[in-house]
Amino acid sequence: MPFDSFIGNPEALASVREMVASGRVPGSLLFSGPDGVGKKTLARMLAKALVCERGGADFCDACSRCRKADEMFRAGQEDVARRREIKEAARRVEGLVYFDFQILEPLTRFILTEQIRQLRHVAYARPFEFPRRVFIIDEAQTIHWQAVDLLLKVLEEPPETTSFILVCSNPYELRPTIRSRCLQIPFQPVDESAILELLAKQQRLSKTQVLLAARVASGSVAKARSFDLAAYEQRRQPWLEFLEAVARPLPASSAGADWRPLFDSAKALAERRDDFEATLDIGYSLLRDLLHVLLQGTGAEVTNVDMLPRLKAWAAVLGLQGIELLKAGLDQAYRLQIRNVNQQLGLEALGLDVEAALRRQSVAK
Ligand SMILES: [Zn+2]
Repeated sequence: MPFDSFIGNPEALASVREMVASGRVPGSLLFSGPDGVGKKTLARMLAKALVCERGGADFCDACSRCRKADEMFRAGQEDVARRREIKEAARRVEGLVYFDFQILEPLTRFILTEQIRQLRHVAYARPFEFPRRVFIIDEAQTIHWQAVDLLLKVLEEPPETTSFILVCSNPYELRPTIRSRCLQIPFQPVDESAILELLAKQQRLSKTQVLLAARVASGSVAKARSFDLAAYEQRRQPWLEFLEAVARPLPASSAGADWRPLFDSAKALAERRDDFEATLDIGYSLLRDLLHVLLQGTGAEVTNVDMLPRLKAWAAVLGLQGIELLKAGLDQAYRLQIRNVNQQLGLEALGLDVEAALRRQSVAK
């Protein structure tokens, strides 16, 4: 049955199933835990199970109510996306609509007072189409401080037919008063074995690629589902070339060294200004891998598992000192990026520094 299709977080799933089976669903719930582990998915499942025509302790995902529920969630999110585009503050919240099921999201940086005011208004009215209402409040930590008391009043005297499911990654970012009104269901990163199983079922990747995808996803089902191998490899390639250039066996003298591969790869990295953070993340993951390989000698915790032989070769040349220098260089590149410095991020200079350090090291030996 559909609850069985939920991946990972068996304790959270069991709590939710128990609520549905016993018919005792609290007026306010708080689903907390890392991004991409299924908090909203399980919230939507719970909502459907509360209205499914087939009844029982599950939902069918096929009856008219289950399908209607999906439509409501979708329409609500389209409405939010449309409103976000509106520049004028007053018009942005004009005529807010609330379906019986809805995912509330921040319209600006915040979930606005008007959103909560309207929500409260609707929550006490009889549901339009379903026997129950479920409002999922996503990124609940963004509720504007002026709206917190309004929401608190609803949570204190919950309307009989409405359930609120607050969703956030860190429950301690919520006001204690809000947190204490909710039954908290904590979520954890999903076990690697469950993610491996999911990816293997999709049958689009080789065994090593499946492991790579699972490691990159690091506990997030959403990341695993959306993993794009070609895009990942494309983003990683300049890093591999950069490491290859930096961690090559030392030439006899620096006079004869060919710096072109280093400069080319540094340029390629600096040119990826779109979503540079994702590019930098890959750089950091490679450095973590080098450290694991160097210190533990195994690939047990390595992300870039498809690169293991090369990682081992690079780690042997770089040693701890080389890896630490690269880490400091990446931190510097990150700071430059944040300050929007439009330059090569100092990666060529970094490569030269690492080479000089390795040379000094080999002379000292
Ligand atoms: Zn159904």
